[in-house]
Amino acid sequence: MRNYVDGAFVATDARFPDVDPVDGHVHAEVCEADAALVDRAVAAARAALRGPWGRMGSEGRIALLRRVADRMEARFDDFLRAEIADTGKPESLARAIDVPRGIANFRIFADLLRGMPEETFHTETPDGQGALSYTVHKPLGVVGVIAPWNLPLLLLSWKVAPALAAGNTVIAKPSEETPATATLLAEVMDEVGMPPGVFNLVHGFGPGSAGEFLTTHRGIDAITFTGESATGSAIMRAAAANVKALSFELGGKNAGIVFADADFDAAVEGTARSVFANCGQVCLCTERVYVERPIFERFVAALKARAEALVLARPDDPAATMGPLISRAHRDKVLSYYRLAREEGATVVTGGGIPHFGDDRDNGAYVQPTILTGLGEQARCVREEIFGPVCHVAPFDGEDEVLAMANDSEYGLAAALWTRDLSRAHRLGRRLEAGIVWVNCWFLRDLRTPFGGVKLSGIGREGGLHSLRFYAEPTTICVKL
Ligand code: NAD
Repeated sequence: MRNYVDGAFVATDARFPDVDPVDGHVHAEVCEADAALVDRAVAAARAALRGPWGRMGSEGRIALLRRVADRMEARFDDFLRAEIADTGKPESLARAIDVPRGIANFRIFADLLRGMPEETFHTETPDGQGALSYTVHKPLGVVGVIAPWNLPLLLLSWKVAPALAAGNTVIAKPSEETPATATLLAEVMDEVGMPPGVFNLVHGFGPGSAGEFLTTHRGIDAITFTGESATGSAIMRAAAANVKALSFELGGKNAGIVFADADFDAAVEGTARSVFANCGQVCLCTERVYVERPIFERFVAALKARAEALVLARPDDPAATMGPLISRAHRDKVLSYYRLAREEGATVVTGGGIPHFGDDRDNGAYVQPTILTGLGEQARCVREEIFGPVCHVAPFDGEDEVLAMANDSEYGLAAALWTRDLSRAHRLGRRLEAGIVWVNCWFLRDLRTPFGGVKLSGIGREGGLHSLRFYAEPTTICVKL
């Protein structure tokens, strides 16, 4: 897999392997971008702002972005295969979520551009004649997009599409774990005739590699990043020297709260999905479950049955409901938390280890879905993001207690509330420290709504016009009448 810079695919001598987490085989070699190639990408992106792209009106950009979506749709199966090869996720999941949402992002942000509001003010001047002030939106310039591995195409295009819609040029760096769909996206950009330099792709790692070259580069105007909170903090330090605009979607340790009056089956089903979806590797996944005491034992038993019914299988097995983690290294991290949970005194209700298949999947990165109980709120397993198919379930008595427990976290991305009491849902929804609160559902997303976290979970909001506002700079024009 090559880089894509200034409208051309570029190979480099430094290579790193792209590993299939299902069985550990290397399915591709990836060309790592060096500092000189990132320099070239920045220069090309800067030049493109002054070229035909910079002079293109919004209708031209909308038409191009819609062509990108159409071409991706025509190559749907290529994207599907690439996403599965990189992540090992069940085909049913990638077919229903990752690829269609990745495509939809280009249509959604193209269409939203037409509805981007501008402001007008009629001002009374001291001489009584007045003035008309209004705003126009300009692109920020060259935007560095740094994406994670958990929903590779969806989260990369969630940034690339609005950045391009707003007229910026982009240098995208996918995660080193998941370079495949980003490389296909570069092919699509080429095929639809995106002007050279508008979309560039550089492969590599974070520190000492393409990630750091981007965040420290003087020629980049903004960085939009999704990933771990600690990485966000490092990027903020790196970007400070050049005062870049920053948008951060970071980690979470999300709470699911189940009241005794909830629709029990729906709460169990929704909570199980929120814990185990994508092998627990969604920033919105629930890792802390709080259940009102009268239904605690029954709920844990029902959640255990759900976990044990998950089918850990190859992506193309239609029965598969859970794939592997992204890599052996990430599996080591998740397993270290399984060990730590025991040291901290947890009861392992189910799971806690790795499955044994007796075939080449034993070389992959599968872990057992795991449920823990019995830990205090200060235990590291209850406070730190694990990012695997695991949750801790604790009982609570009453609204105030559960609110205090849910909010006692450094993170604040999402929460899910399960109750039939509508007044309580509204009351708690306001008081929960999270960017999004779901009531009797999870992962139900209207892509126009603001999306983002508080505390360590991020800075700013993406989604709909919120994304476009980040990628556009309003300029005020004041005309004396
Ligand atoms: P990560 O922070 O390890 O890596 C993300 C990206 O940053 C990768 O492309 C990586 O190469 C790059 N990177 C790493 N160090 C860097 C540095 N010093 N400078 C520049 N770039 C650097 O995250 P990950 O492991 O890929 O993803 C999982 C994390 O992402 C979890 O914490 C998860 O909660 C979070 N996440 C958040 C959201 C959200 O919307 N809030 C969505 C998905 C994932």
